[in-house]
Amino acid sequence: MRIRGAVLEEVGRARPYAASRPLSICELELAPPGPGEVLVRIEAAGVCHSDLSVVDGTRVRPVPMLLGHEAAGRVERAGPGVDDIEAGQRVVMTFLPRCGACEGCATDGVTPCVRGSAANNAGTLLSRGVRLRRDGAPVLHHLGVSGFATHAVVDRHSVVPVDDDVPPEVAAVLGCAVLTGGGAVNAGRPAPGQTVTVVGLGGVGMAALITALAVDGVTVIGVDGNPDKLAAARRLGAHATYRPAELAASGIRAPIVIEAAGNVRAFEAAVAATAPGGRTVTVGLPAPDARSSISPLGLVAEGRTIVGSYLGSAVPARDIPVFVRMWREGRLPVEALVSARIRLSDVNEAMDQLADGTVIRQVIVFDAF
Ligand SMILES: [Zn+2]
Ligand SMILES: [Zn+2]
Repeated sequence: MRIRGAVLEEVGRARPYAASRPLSICELELAPPGPGEVLVRIEAAGVCHSDLSVVDGTRVRPVPMLLGHEAAGRVERAGPGVDDIEAGQRVVMTFLPRCGACEGCATDGVTPCVRGSAANNAGTLLSRGVRLRRDGAPVLHHLGVSGFATHAVVDRHSVVPVDDDVPPEVAAVLGCAVLTGGGAVNAGRPAPGQTVTVVGLGGVGMAALITALAVDGVTVIGVDGNPDKLAAARRLGAHATYRPAELAASGIRAPIVIEAAGNVRAFEAAVAATAPGGRTVTVGLPAPDARSSISPLGLVAEGRTIVGSYLGSAVPARDIPVFVRMWREGRLPVEALVSARIRLSDVNEAMDQLADGTVIRQVIVFDAF
């Protein structure tokens, strides 16, 4: 079938992206779902920092690639062998399929799926197939999702069903921001009476913030360089907010600190702001060549732990229903993470906004315009 999508043509084009247009909106041919795959009509897709990292080359991926890894939609057709999901079902896409059979999948979300990671690095689906073509030439999949498009074919392991009462924008954001940020909070295991500090208040950091606020008796501190984001964090219920320099000067240290900015300065600030006996959960994705300087003695003498948490150490099929329940109970205001609803054709401008660090989550909506 013919679809429309946003294809990254070349890595590392100059900003502003509104002028250099690294993503072209074009027509592509989408093959039918193969065995174990589903065809999904995309309803909403969030623009995440990990998309920008592919555009600017911080995360090196092969091109041409149809970007977008945080999305939700309705299943239009199930491929051969898929008997537990039907046409019409709303699904959240998840960007790291768990095949359920490898050694990574045998862990509790701590280790990513080995097959899923290999497929993601190759730009293919879990089957190692590619279902996208443009003018006869293959176009690669982004993290098994490629959600910046009207439709996608994905592996059954890349979707989690949700009920119809979950709106598309909420469902989309559950798949990356909430799963990652909320999962990082879970990985920190906060107890009543403890403080959770979140460093970096983009989509993932704000999701961590609202998840921490949903834990009874926890005090939540938000840290970011942008005063607008600090104000947004306070509106969401943060008990205190600081710019990074203010936090360092305050000497405040918390038993659980989440690093959600994905750069070395934020990582080092998060480690420095972790109390004796505490856990620094690092969930941001710095450039592969980034290197940090911290004191090993500080870790030993104060009995502190650094926890690396990819995708919030989440198991999507297990954890998304938990976040949906919290949202339905009014304890997790996921809508508040959506700072703008945009068109697919606005995606280059959205990358500029993201690079400026002024937005929380821009969501492409396909039916609203
Ligand atoms: Zn993401
Ligand atoms: Zn696996």
